[in-house]
Amino acid sequence: MTTLVIAEHDNAQLKGATLNAVAAAAKIGGDVHVLVAGANARAVADQAAAAAGVSKVLLADAPQLADGLAENVAAQVLAVASSYSHILFPATASGKNVAPRVAAKLDVAQISDIIGVESADTFQRPIYAGNAIATVQSADAVKVITVRTTGFDAVAAQGGSAAVEEIAAVADSGLSAFVGREVAKSDRPELAGARVVVSGGRGLGSAENFKILDPLADKLGAALGASRAAVDAGYAPNDWQVGQTGKIVAPQLYVAVGISGAIQHLAGMKDSKVIVAINKDPEAPIFGVADYGLVGDLFQVVPELTSAL
Ligand code: FAD
Repeated sequence: MTTLVIAEHDNAQLKGATLNAVAAAAKIGGDVHVLVAGANARAVADQAAAAAGVSKVLLADAPQLADGLAENVAAQVLAVASSYSHILFPATASGKNVAPRVAAKLDVAQISDIIGVESADTFQRPIYAGNAIATVQSADAVKVITVRTTGFDAVAAQGGSAAVEEIAAVADSGLSAFVGREVAKSDRPELAGARVVVSGGRGLGSAENFKILDPLADKLGAALGASRAAVDAGYAPNDWQVGQTGKIVAPQLYVAVGISGAIQHLAGMKDSKVIVAINKDPEAPIFGVADYGLVGDLFQVVPELTSAL
C-alpha cells in the first residue's frame, strides 16, 4: 500500500497545504510519495523530500507543467497512478481542479474533502455545511481523495530525507493554454493558512468602515476575512470570504466582528482554536461558538481593543 500526494506549489515554494495532505496520507498507513509536477521545480522537490514522513519524491519537470494546467497535471498523475493504492490532493482550488479528472479516468468515485481517516478504505467528511459528518467506505481499487487541509495538522517541513526521482514528463495535452495570472499583493498572511484571522461582517456597514479592522489586524499579524454579506455588499474583496462557499480556515485565533454567525459562515471557521466574537446583539448565534464574546458596538470596541493591544 503506497499513497501518492500531489504537491501544491508555485515552482519555487512547496505550499503548506501539501504538508496537511501528507499528514492525512500518513494516517492511511504505508509509504508516502509526493509528486511534484512543475517547471524548474527542483527546489520544490527538495522541500517535499525534507517533509517528515515522505519516503520518495517524484519530480516531473517540463515547461508544459509550469502553470498547473489541470489537463497536463492530471495526465502526469495518471502516468504513475498504477503504482498507488491512494492518490491524495489538498482540497484547494488547484487540487479540486485536477482530482476529478484523475478519478474519472481511473473510473473510480472521488472521495471529497476528508477530515478524518478511520482506515485505509474508510474516511470521514463533512456534509450539510459541516452539520453532519459522513463516514464513507470505498471499495475502489484506487482511492482518489481530496483532503480538507484544516482537518489534519501539517507534518513537519523538516526532518525527512526522501530520495528525489526524476520521471518523464507527459507531453502537452494541447487542450488548454496558460493565458495569465493576477495575484493579489498583500503584506498580510494568506487567509487560508494564517495563524490569526480578523473577519468583518455586514455590521461594519461600508467598505470605508471596514478599514477599522486594519489596525487590529496589524497588531495581531492577522489575515483579513469577511462574511459573504460583507463581500456581497462590496465592503470586502471576494477572496476574503470565509464560509461554506468561501475559504475554510482554522487559525489559532479567529476574531469575528459584526458577524451574526449564520450556519454557512460557521462552516468556514468553527474549527478555529480560539474564537472571539464582537457583536452588539447578545442573541447573535456567533456567541454559541465563541470562546470569548464581547457584546458592544464594534465602532467603540474595536478601537479600544486595538489600543489596549
Ligand atoms: P448579518 O447576518 O446581517 O449580521 C450582521 C451582524 O452584525 C448582526 O449580528 C448584528 O448584530 C451585528 N452588528 C451590526 N452593527 C453592529 C455594530 N455596530 N457593532 C457590533 N455588531 C453589529 N455566509 C458566509 O459568511 N460565508 C459563506 O461562505 C456563505 N455561503 C452561503 C451559501 C449559501 C448557499 C447561502 C444560502 C448562504 C451563504 N452565506 C454565507 C450567507 C449567510 O447565510 C449569511 O447571510 C451571512 O453569513 C451573514 O453575514 P453577516 O453575519 O455579516 O451579516
